[in-house]
Amino acid sequence: MGAQQGAPAGAQQVAERFAELYGARPEGVWAAPGRVNLIGEHTDYNDGFVMPFALPHQATAAVSRRTDGVLRLHSADIEGGLAGIAELPLDALAPGSDESWTAYPAGVVWALREAGHAITGADVHLSSTVPTGAGLSSSAALEVVIALALNDLYALGLPGWKLARLCQRAENVYVGAPTGIMDQTASACCRQGHALFLDTRDLSQHQIPFDLAAEGLRLLVVDTRVKHAHSGGEYGKRRAGCEKGAALLGVDALRDVPYAGLDAALARLGDEEEVVRLVRHVVTEDHRVERVVGLLRSGETRAIGPVLTEGHASLRDDFRISCPELDLVVDTALAAGALGARMTGGGFGGSAIVLTEATDVDTLTKAIEEAFAAADFTPPRVFEAVPAAGARRLV
Ligand code: ADP
Ligand code: MG
Repeated sequence: MGAQQGAPAGAQQVAERFAELYGARPEGVWAAPGRVNLIGEHTDYNDGFVMPFALPHQATAAVSRRTDGVLRLHSADIEGGLAGIAELPLDALAPGSDESWTAYPAGVVWALREAGHAITGADVHLSSTVPTGAGLSSSAALEVVIALALNDLYALGLPGWKLARLCQRAENVYVGAPTGIMDQTASACCRQGHALFLDTRDLSQHQIPFDLAAEGLRLLVVDTRVKHAHSGGEYGKRRAGCEKGAALLGVDALRDVPYAGLDAALARLGDEEEVVRLVRHVVTEDHRVERVVGLLRSGETRAIGPVLTEGHASLRDDFRISCPELDLVVDTALAAGALGARMTGGGFGGSAIVLTEATDVDTLTKAIEEAFAAADFTPPRVFEAVPAAGARRLV
């Protein structure tokens, strides 16, 4: 499903398929990207900082309005052809009622209606090049593309950050996956050639120029092909542990523990070993985001490498959400001369990122592929990530 090395499905192609399925041209075609998080992992549900950028991989949706209270959904990436059109009466949309992929777009329609927006129905055909379950946010791309299409067609006038909030609500409440606000905001608000420095407490944003090619650098994404299980218990356990840490320290969220006061805070947690590790990760990770922002602003791009690598060590040793495949990417890349590397996304599989000199890309890719073969792991998928545009109308 999805994911053919990033060549975006053409708007025309998606519009034509829509016409075949529904018997008329769509009113428009929209796109929303997947994302990679440069730094700031598991900070978004702690009111902290994140720094994602958009991938060229994107979900593309052709959409028309309906007036009869029906939502029809079709994905090119799901088997079933014409018979695969799902037809959902809007009045029957209810959280937890849908176990299939249609819960993501239906959840967005539900969230919009619940927020008081008079959506009267839609026909949707979509196609996505975002790999699913690879930590690159295919789910957010799917949600945001639908939200933006309906925002335009129904003239709702909602800004990107608000659409992101509604999409997060769709995923948390309707789909039942407890995720933070980063993925949807990245898909909705990123800009080409920039990384998005986002404060997840007040959703204030800064677009940070991030043009690696101009400096002779590259950022590789290595999809380990190990499927993460997001709504699985481990994510919930980390989240609950962070909440416990905040409660024990008497703060609203771990974001409120200053980096300069970290040692004192950890001392106060005493023998709560697990909580100590989680708190240490979150507080140092917020600090790493601020360091990366500072380095990029002062043009010291190569110097972010070691900060990324520190972030990996923290996720592996303190947050404990890495896996052998992710560690192998990082260790192999660093041994072969990468400037920095870390796992990205929720953990337990998915993808890692590698910052490297452009001249070392082939050597590094080969080293990683060989290391995976030697370990008898499924061959990874390696591609270059160039910061791409956020969600937008194509046609
Ligand atoms: P991630 O967001 O990291 O890729 P998730 O588990 O959050 O992983 O979301 C993946 C799910 O999103 C898929 O299992 C599927 O239900 C849905 N999805 C993503 N892309 C598509 C698509 N092109 N067509 C239909 N469903 C999709
Ligand atoms: Mg997701």
